[in-house]
Amino acid sequence: MLFGNELRSKFLPRSEGLNVEVNKSSPSLQPNQEIRSYMREHRRFLHRFPEVGLELPNTHVHIAQELQQLGLDVEHRSSAGVSARIAGSDPTARPVILRADMDALPVKEETGEPFSSEIVGASHACGHDLHMATMLGLAGDLVDNPPLRDVIVVFQPGEETDRGAVPTLEHRNLRISEADTYAVHVNSALPLGTVNYRFGTFMAYGDWFSIDIKGVGGHASAPERVGSPIRLGTHFLAEMINVAKALSRKGEKAVATVTEFQSGNTVNVIPATARLRGTIRATNDAVRTELISGLQEIIELDHRDMQAHLEIMQGYPAVIADDQALQDLISVLEEGNLAESLVRMPEPSMVIEDYSYFLQKWPGAMVYVGAQAEANPSFNHSADARFHEEAMDTAFTVFRTIVDAAPRARTG
Ligand SMILES: [Zn+2]
Ligand SMILES: [Zn+2]
Repeated sequence: MLFGNELRSKFLPRSEGLNVEVNKSSPSLQPNQEIRSYMREHRRFLHRFPEVGLELPNTHVHIAQELQQLGLDVEHRSSAGVSARIAGSDPTARPVILRADMDALPVKEETGEPFSSEIVGASHACGHDLHMATMLGLAGDLVDNPPLRDVIVVFQPGEETDRGAVPTLEHRNLRISEADTYAVHVNSALPLGTVNYRFGTFMAYGDWFSIDIKGVGGHASAPERVGSPIRLGTHFLAEMINVAKALSRKGEKAVATVTEFQSGNTVNVIPATARLRGTIRATNDAVRTELISGLQEIIELDHRDMQAHLEIMQGYPAVIADDQALQDLISVLEEGNLAESLVRMPEPSMVIEDYSYFLQKWPGAMVYVGAQAEANPSFNHSADARFHEEAMDTAFTVFRTIVDAAPRARTG
């Protein structure tokens, strides 16, 4: 087990201010000044050293060490994150599982923040650094001011494309059948201080695809002789968008986006191959099935002297809120000081999230916490997406409010 200063000093420059103590004051649904400073320090530190994927050794150690310093019994699993259970005052109350994701993106940061990423080609462009820092601040507060219900804090790697939720769900701390679960996601394009929720589908179903086109290639002066995989690829691209548009009706939505198109290497040769990759999204499972068969139909048409092959890589299920669990959250936020902040989303977000695997196991909900930092914000995943740190205060309050609320009885 490699914890502590030894590993940290080996890999991570130590930032000033990390020893900020969580204040042992009376319970409050809002973070006090000490917790706010603590969350900001950790957020900035984690932001400087982002890690991508399932293997997040430095982030993992940092989180585990902080939780251990709170005196918690920490469960840590290689490539499957960190968790800890914090005892509540009512042992008969159903526990709450709170989840934060830990991974960054392979995006070169261009935010200009003074604490920008120091790791080449990686950044916390999805704001998971804020999720982790909020959960650390919350854990400290829950230790000092025990909640009503037992709380299991979960830090999960590999959310972006590695399905990290699945191995994380193997934690011993999570081998319980009776629980509620909640998570937040910061959103750089939604107004600061808002809590955005939706009954039913909150985030979309999503899969990834690749299309390989194979022709023979030839002289650029005579495309009629050999056909062009680039031309066929752009035809696919346009047709996929048409299929998705046609399926976006009656309150449902479908999206097909090509994110990678590779072909050719010079100015006077028609290449023999092309490859397109991307993602499809749908707001319900039936639309998802129709979207996939629509793509297959386009690809399987006769393309004369070229062949095309479509491969679908299974993505994530939709993030679907449990009606009662979401209503519980809304009710306690309305009673508390976040009533003004609640915003009902008219449409699902077309983002995908593997928190859906948590929601398949326990009733719960995810909400967006607005983190807009400037007038014309870039959305999550952009190189210049900036997240306002006060969003962590809202996220803290959302979590602290629900863990102090008495759970309603479930009938099965
Ligand atoms: Zn993301
Ligand atoms: Zn994310």
